[in-house]
Amino acid sequence: MTDTNNTTPKKEKVPRQPMPEQPAGERQKNFDEVPYGYTPETAMLEASRCIQCKKPRCVAGCPVGIDIPGFIKAIEVGDFPESIRILKDSNALPAVCGRVCPQEDQCEILCVLSVKQDPVAIGRLERFAADWEREHGEVKLPEVAPPTGKKVAVVGAGPAGLTVAGDLIVKGHEVTVFEALHKPGGVLVYGIPEFRLPNEIVEFEIKNLENLGVKVINNIVVGKTFTIPELMEEEGFDAVFLGVGAGLPMFMGIPGENLNGVYSANEYLTRSNLMGGYDFPRYDTPLKRGKKVAIIGGGNVAMDSARTAKRLGAESIVVYRRSKKEMPARIEEIHHAEEEGIDFHFLTAPVRILGNEDGAVIGMECLTMELGEPDDSGRRRPVPIKGSEYILDVDVVIVSVGTGSNPLLTKSTPGLELNKWDYIVADQKTGVTSIPGVYAGGDIVRGAATVILAMGDGRMASGAMHRYLMGEPEPADAPEES
Ligand SMILES: Cc1cc2nc3c(=O)[nH]c(=O)nc-3n(C[C@H](O)[C@H](O)[C@H](O)COP(=O)(O)OP(=O)(O)OC[C@H]3O[C@@H](n4cnc5c(N)ncnc54)[C@H](O)[C@@H]3O)c2cc1C
Repeated sequence: MTDTNNTTPKKEKVPRQPMPEQPAGERQKNFDEVPYGYTPETAMLEASRCIQCKKPRCVAGCPVGIDIPGFIKAIEVGDFPESIRILKDSNALPAVCGRVCPQEDQCEILCVLSVKQDPVAIGRLERFAADWEREHGEVKLPEVAPPTGKKVAVVGAGPAGLTVAGDLIVKGHEVTVFEALHKPGGVLVYGIPEFRLPNEIVEFEIKNLENLGVKVINNIVVGKTFTIPELMEEEGFDAVFLGVGAGLPMFMGIPGENLNGVYSANEYLTRSNLMGGYDFPRYDTPLKRGKKVAIIGGGNVAMDSARTAKRLGAESIVVYRRSKKEMPARIEEIHHAEEEGIDFHFLTAPVRILGNEDGAVIGMECLTMELGEPDDSGRRRPVPIKGSEYILDVDVVIVSVGTGSNPLLTKSTPGLELNKWDYIVADQKTGVTSIPGVYAGGDIVRGAATVILAMGDGRMASGAMHRYLMGEPEPADAPEES
């Protein structure tokens, strides 16, 4: 009998295409990227699920306003160069964002399909287009406007600073990025591990900026090597963008945090990722691997540290004082960590870290918690259960309870207004600070946030900086929506 059913699946009937990835048993022993990426065929099939809404809600969820239906349509019809062109109109780092953006809370959560089924895999498609371009060597650079004669300094080569640099170079300004570390990229290279975001991808996207004419100077700590007044008055910069992030590690203030074998997550990840500690014996970076490692915290940074410790050969235990439901990490990251055999001790708080006579970690005393009423953060407050203390035998402890503003630059800049947490106060529509010509954005304004929000700040600030440099007025404030 002939099948009278329509054999071409209706758009909304094509299921969300799964992402092929390295099996958990293998990947926990290496630092290779976990997801393999879509093939052209899978990408086109996934793209065919997009129903091309006339008023696309997904775009409203993207902090840099990518034309999402546009780039997806181009993938659907197999015009990959066009899809990457559209992406790059609004996003200088698509291969990065396709990998690490919290799409599930931004664009994808607003996808109309998600009312009845899984949303279109917008992030995976973004990654596909960017990877396709890189792998096919057909990188098209945007056109650069004629020189304006204006000089801009960008302090910090993270996603905020790199976005400003990319935007202002194409507008014809001379742009120099000053970076404190020996490699540009910010958290993208020193924090996020290779198995989630290979450094070569960040390097490639930075190379594109350099090919456009952006000068990147590493190993310069602004605030020490030069101050902001020196940059403007002596080095001749007409405007400055501060995108220095919020990389100052926080500790818990419990006894034993100064023992040998206690790391902040930032130091641990920097030693592994940026200083090649994961690549022994090629790099002999001091990094205590440990047999049993406790990671304190429940965010993405804690997941990255736990998965790194596992790959470095340790038994890896996440200690989190609330339950799994309250964990701030992305669901996908928690899922990957569970698959890789990371052990989770929920409702557990460390009380002190124990050391031997040589000052090395030998254990951690913990207390079991129960959840009480919600606190200011909206999450249920952990309350200790009396007499529930126990010792966890560990030889390395990684503290991942958040980061703050590094005072090095902010405190050495006279007239720079800071808020009560020492983050820079910047106008929400322009990024301008209390110093005319000095703009700021990303984590140093928001506190620890996300890559795409940092890039959104960079995009906004670059527009305002361009107007400032060209002597153009700010557009009148749009009326508030009621
Ligand atoms: C381990 C980890 C994992 C994360 N995972 C994710 C994720 O999956 N998805 C996501 O969206 N976000 C993630 N984040 C958050 C995200 O990376 C940050 O929100 C984002 O990088 C902030 O960008 P930024 O440009 O403001 O600052 P950064 O990326 O912090 O870059 C700031 C740069 O400024 C440099 N600098 C600082 N001071 C000076 C100075 N005085 N002079 C010169 N240079 C200076 C620093 O060395 C650094 O390179 C993660 C963060 C961490 C730590």
